[in-house]
Amino acid sequence: MDLKKAIREIENFPKEGINFKDITTLMQDGETFKYTIDAFINDLKDKNVDVIVGPEARGFLMGTPVAYGLGIGFVPVRKPGKLPAETISYSYGLEYGSDTLQIHKDAIKPGQRVAIVDDLLATGGTMEAAAKLIEKLGGEVVSMQFLIELEFLNGREKLSQYEVNSLIKY
Ligand code: IMP
Repeated sequence: MDLKKAIREIENFPKEGINFKDITTLMQDGETFKYTIDAFINDLKDKNVDVIVGPEARGFLMGTPVAYGLGIGFVPVRKPGKLPAETISYSYGLEYGSDTLQIHKDAIKPGQRVAIVDDLLATGGTMEAAAKLIEKLGGEVVSMQFLIELEFLNGREKLSQYEVNSLIKY
């Protein structure tokens, strides 16, 4: 299936010079959405994953159906001040700006095998931050899954110690 055709590109969003990949058009089409989620599930099904982590906000959209399909739990990684219980934090630079991410302290148990799912790999800063949070809690990051990889930003290099899978490359 041609997933690229299902993704809308918006020039100069959210800033001048950024060609934003809009996945809402892929998600609003039941066939392309199902194909995408099934592709993630298929790649992960034999990796003995205990839990899926998804970074705010599009990682929630991609990650929760994958967790449901695998019959395992989902853990959100969020921007500061959103998670209600005790959290740990990690700060990073991203494609446009910089940010801090948080995870609930009790969300990952030591030794758990974790896969992280997000919509897009740009510089890799978001994914690296999510991985650091998981590792701080004693989890093992066994796979990183992306719908889209922007290869020209070399995010894969930053994540070279991890298994990285992407469904579409630009
Ligand atoms: P990175 O941290 O530089 O790899 O940026 C990836 C994060 O930024 C992901 O969580 C994406 O949701 C978001 N992002 C960056 N560029 C785009 C885009 O063109 N479309 C959708 N999300 C984007």
